Amino acid sequence: MSTGLLVPPMRQTQVFVPELVYFEPDALNYSKGQRIFEWAQQQGLPIHMTTSHNRITNLPGDSDIEKYKIAKRTLVVGIRKTLKFEPSKPSAEYAIPIATGCMAHCHYCYLQTTLGAKPYIRVYVNTDDIMKAAKQYIEERAPEITRFEAACTSDPVGLEHISGSLKELIEFMAQEPLGRLRFVTKFHHVEPLLHLKHNKHTRFRFSVNADYVIKNFEPATSSFYERISAAGKVAQAGYPLGFIIAPIIWHEGWEKGYQELLEKLKEALPSEATSDLTFELIQHRFTKTAKTVIQQRYPKTKLELDETKRKYKWGRWGQGKYVYSDDQANALREFITEQIFEKFPQSSIDYFT
Ligand code: SF4
Repeated sequence: MSTGLLVPPMRQTQVFVPELVYFEPDALNYSKGQRIFEWAQQQGLPIHMTTSHNRITNLPGDSDIEKYKIAKRTLVVGIRKTLKFEPSKPSAEYAIPIATGCMAHCHYCYLQTTLGAKPYIRVYVNTDDIMKAAKQYIEERAPEITRFEAACTSDPVGLEHISGSLKELIEFMAQEPLGRLRFVTKFHHVEPLLHLKHNKHTRFRFSVNADYVIKNFEPATSSFYERISAAGKVAQAGYPLGFIIAPIIWHEGWEKGYQELLEKLKEALPSEATSDLTFELIQHRFTKTAKTVIQQRYPKTKLELDETKRKYKWGRWGQGKYVYSDDQANALREFITEQIFEKFPQSSIDYFT
């Protein structure tokens, strides 16, 4: 029986259309590059050529914040030159690079620091080279299964109508007995992926959160209702499904917020979605660099970034992170874990970090 917790949104989140498009010259030697070029022309978008994305320094905008906003609506179409994949623990063995950057404005997003002064969106047209490299990684680890995470540096579902890269990866991985694909999204534009032959080798995850977090820190993403409706469709299409609750944020009324989140998930999901469901739980953390960047770009953010309220965790590369105290982290983990197993007794929790 419906509890009335789920309210359809007043308006639909539209697919992303950039304001500016740049092409690196070699990109047009690939059919995907040509296709994106034609799409940009049909959309009537300003198209520029650039010898390299590194040379895009003159984006319009009177202030740094304006330039940042424009950059997030700028698409660069190029070639992925580095085919050495980065590790992607704990969710997968490797990050598979199909895009970099994202049009959404989540205040806490780590791309703000990892992409630094280059927050524009890059899509790569040489997917065949990327899949060839993935095949080598799979062969190296045989007979072990190798998992690839496609959302480490972007939200690829939000770009699928432009690039079509997830379709290629899903169909490629369906043919690989020892290869698995996974990605996470905050967008609901899943239609182009529903009818693909995936062979259950792709785990489709949605990023979800307490109402307070979505409302205050995730501008320009699909609403919770849209994400959950999309999750239902994905489950009906037979994909293994998962949810990432991240970042878990300690806020006033957090217990109620996360309890309601799990209640809403239970209410909305069709029964076939719950038999092989995974959860990944990631608590909020920040670095000193991230704090500076976030406060410049989102000066009015309500994100709590007070080092004195946090525990310092030393990092491998020198730069440590501020995480919740052990007491707070344990309280969050215990409460959310209980809620998950109460509502979804057959699901599994992959990790809490
Ligand atoms: Fe970052 Fe994901 Fe938000 Fe995009 S949707 S800004 S990748 S957290």
